[in-house]
Amino acid sequence: MSDSRHDPGSATGTPRSAELYARACRVIPGGVNSPVRAFRAVGGTPLFIARGAGAQIFDADGRAYLDLVCSWGPLIAGHAHPAVLAAVSAALSRGMTYGAPCAAEVELAERVSSAYPAAEQLRFVSSGTEAVMSAIRVARAFTGRDLIVKFAGCYHGHADHLLVAAGSGLATFGRPSSAGVPESFTAATRVLPLDDEAAAESLFEREGPRIAALIIEPVPANHGLLPQRRAFLEALRRLTSRHGSLLIFDEVISGFRLARGGAAALLGLTPDLATFGKVIGGGMPVGAFGGARRIMARLAPDGDTYQAGTLSGNPVAMAAGLATLELLERERGWERLESLGAELEALVRPVLTAAPFPVHLVRAGSLFWMSLHEAGAPRTAVALTERETQRFARLFHAMLARGVYLPPSGYEACFLSLAHSPADLARFAQELRAALAAAK
Ligand code: PMP
Repeated sequence: MSDSRHDPGSATGTPRSAELYARACRVIPGGVNSPVRAFRAVGGTPLFIARGAGAQIFDADGRAYLDLVCSWGPLIAGHAHPAVLAAVSAALSRGMTYGAPCAAEVELAERVSSAYPAAEQLRFVSSGTEAVMSAIRVARAFTGRDLIVKFAGCYHGHADHLLVAAGSGLATFGRPSSAGVPESFTAATRVLPLDDEAAAESLFEREGPRIAALIIEPVPANHGLLPQRRAFLEALRRLTSRHGSLLIFDEVISGFRLARGGAAALLGLTPDLATFGKVIGGGMPVGAFGGARRIMARLAPDGDTYQAGTLSGNPVAMAAGLATLELLERERGWERLESLGAELEALVRPVLTAAPFPVHLVRAGSLFWMSLHEAGAPRTAVALTERETQRFARLFHAMLARGVYLPPSGYEACFLSLAHSPADLARFAQELRAALAAAK
């Protein structure tokens, strides 16, 4: 939008957003319902979004932006896709929730299970956080063990026992990374560094018989994008099996995005449990966890492990998820997303080579990250220096001023959708070239 250049986030550039933000700050902590939206990592005030269409979002002041966030993953078909909207409005006309079973839950469960064979059975919840929380409960019930292992830099939602110091890069006992989480709640959590077989082996050597589950994002996408070596993930599969612990793949981002069968299919590895969210809800609040029937059988009402939800399997949300997965299948979505990603990579690499400071592109299908680490793109959770953080903030605002909406943090990956056209990608590369020069 060359005619929409403005002073980003300022009261003069976006007066309506600024006014909404001021009002929001009075009644909503920090003015937002999820912290990263507040622009704290990049400065300025957040844009309030009035609507989305395809690959674009429009702020409350009517400015258009090419959207590289896509609501952090759910909108794999783009904003307001007609097929998803039609399915949602048809479902809406039949009522919004019943609190009793409905056919759409069965259809979506069948679809997820047939695409992701490790999930022989699954249960729907309303967020990724809930999916992970529930998967861990059933893993503990099934194994009769307490300890949970996670990796520094992997995010699994905000459940107490997983909100543990991430980024130390060292194997350590879990210490809460948030106030309000008692030390005792994370005492049964262990944190390992990514990309380090030896650390995992020695932890299992010491505590294997007490470990219920090891959870990992098979393609970590919450501390930048940190694709792991297959050999490392294979070692985790072997270790957990050998010690009678469960392997949980958190596919909340990667599931139905990187491939029909998620990262598990891409890697050819089978977890015992998997968690989903984002894409399977097509933009509605949906999560799911699933696994082998013998594990899932522990859940109430058949088993002794309680888990429930008033709006779980909500018919409108199920309809959005079904329409999204049908669309992906019908339109060879995963193939198209991979080729969009490859095209973006081809366009962006030469731009980054000419950048005034180091920027490394990391890509996995339709996910990509512009790493500002001077030392190159890491494979473990490495903190950005103050200088690198400042550079990202300048780049972010320079892009915003050119009508491109990047995630407002240097640690967040960008998302492409089926609505992003080759022309959008070309425009992205062109604006990036100009923005990098401006951000020098
Ligand atoms: N797991 C992963 C891998 C995630 O990326 C997220 C959220 N981005 C979650 C869990 C939590 O999902 P939600 O925000 O829906 O609770």
